Formats: sequence, structure tokens, C-alpha cells
Amino acid sequence: MTTKKVEMIFSPNAPHFVGNGFRVHNFIPSISCLSMQRMNPFILMDYNSKFFFEPSVEPRGVGVHPHRGFETVTIAYKGKIEHRDNSGGGGVIGEGDVQWMTAGSGVLHKEFHEKEWSKKGGEFQMVQLWVNLPSKEKKNPSKYQSIQNNDIPRFYLENNSGEIEVIAGKYNGTAGVAQTHTPLHLYNAKLKRNAEVTFNFPENYNTALLVIEGDIHINNAEQASNDHFVLMANKGREFAIKAHADSIILVLSGEPIHEPIVAQGPFVMNSRQEIIQAYEDFRSGKFGAL
Ligand code: MN
Repeated sequence: MTTKKVEMIFSPNAPHFVGNGFRVHNFIPSISCLSMQRMNPFILMDYNSKFFFEPSVEPRGVGVHPHRGFETVTIAYKGKIEHRDNSGGGGVIGEGDVQWMTAGSGVLHKEFHEKEWSKKGGEFQMVQLWVNLPSKEKKNPSKYQSIQNNDIPRFYLENNSGEIEVIAGKYNGTAGVAQTHTPLHLYNAKLKRNAEVTFNFPENYNTALLVIEGDIHINNAEQASNDHFVLMANKGREFAIKAHADSIILVLSGEPIHEPIVAQGPFVMNSRQEIIQAYEDFRSGKFGAL
């Protein structure tokens, strides 16, 4: 079995605010070598590293905005996020929960810190991933998968050394809970100090790690600590992680969608014409109202 090596390790870039509630490092696609195509089908990753928000009566967040043509996957590590959409849907993403939203043909929503959490303030940490949809599914109706932490299937490591939460795809026979439109794997590897674990992904998949918490070695060679992004080479299949502290690693690996990507603002389509159409539809009220 050939080893899959580390291609590059990225430090978090300078954070920016999305609205006034999400202080994020954008790993995909703003860091060089991490283009939408390089990590396809994962076309965007915003990471709110641990950040303390002062109490606020008015919840911080981002106001009404549209999406079309892809899925947003929001993973809350600390704090709570509340969302509302134009179809009357809404809910709270609590600590450890995942929201998998298919924007499809179009959704209008807003994302804020949860009201009660906001009043108390506290440490906030989350990831938002954008997962592309194949052209034939970009016009599907929008849909939510609200995944509570205790509904996420787990693979338990030997000697009580940790667990792999399988959000999507499969790990060692444990199947994830999220339905996806193309083949991909998404896990939270929760490792105790000294835990060792191996992963195995096809060479044509794009694979990366985000160290949410802790400190790890990959293949007994490279070291990565919290808030670092590890891009894995395509070549080779298997790699090993050893935790040097209690660690949480977001593991992502997916088969690229071999289609053109044209992205602008909140829309991700296949052509310039479809982007113009999306803006036209948004302006003329075809996304509805909120
Ligand atoms: Mn959004």
C-alpha cells in the first residue's frame, strides 16, 4: 500500500468578518494552491477559529442573503448558530451538530448566533464548507439535513483512544448520516493523546485535514497543530495520524466533479450566463422573501 504524503501545510491567514458574527480564516479558495478545483468538490472553507464574543443582546451574524448551485455544510464546535430561511425553515446548530443545507435552485437565509447564547457570549468556533453540486442537480429544490451530534454514527478506536464521527461517507464500515450528491467522506476524528489512526482514500479524491484542536504528526513525519490546514497529495492511498495532545481533526476527502466552476458571491454555477441569471432571479424576487 503506497503512502499518501502531505503536500503542504497552511497556517491560518488573516481573519475577516462575515457579517459581524463570523470571524473566519478562508482556506479554500483564497490561499494559493487551494483553489476550488484543487479541493473540488469542496469549493470553499471558512474557519472561525476559537474566538471570544462578548455578550450581546442583539445576536451577531449575517443578514438575509441567497445561495444557488451548491451545498453549505456548517459544523459547530463551540457556540450555537441559528438560521432562518424563506421557506419558513429554521433551527439551531448546537455544539457538535452539523447542518447540511442544499441550496439547489435557490434559498434565501440568514445566519446568526443563537439568541440566548448571544446574551451570555462565549467562545465560538465553527466551520462552513461549500460542497459543489453536479450540474444536473444545481436546480434541485432546496433541502436541509439537520444532524444532531448524537445522531452521527461513530467508529470507536481501540483501547478507548478516541472515535471517528462519520458525518458523511464511510469509515471502516461505519456509514455516515448525511446524504450526499457525489461520493465524499467527512469525519471529525476525536483523538485522545497518543491515539493512532489510519485513513485510506482513493488517489482521484481530493483530501485534506483541518486541525480544530490539538497537535498531530502525519505519517510520523510532518507536524500540524491547531488551526492548520493539511493538504494531502493525490498520489498514494493510506496515511497515519498520531495525536500528541487530545485532538479534533476535520477530515475531508471527495471525488472531484469534472465540470467548469464559475463562482461569484453566493452563487456557484457552471457558466457566466448562469451566474448572470442567478443575479437576475435574485433581483426580480424569484428567490422569495424573508
Ligand atoms: Mn449562507
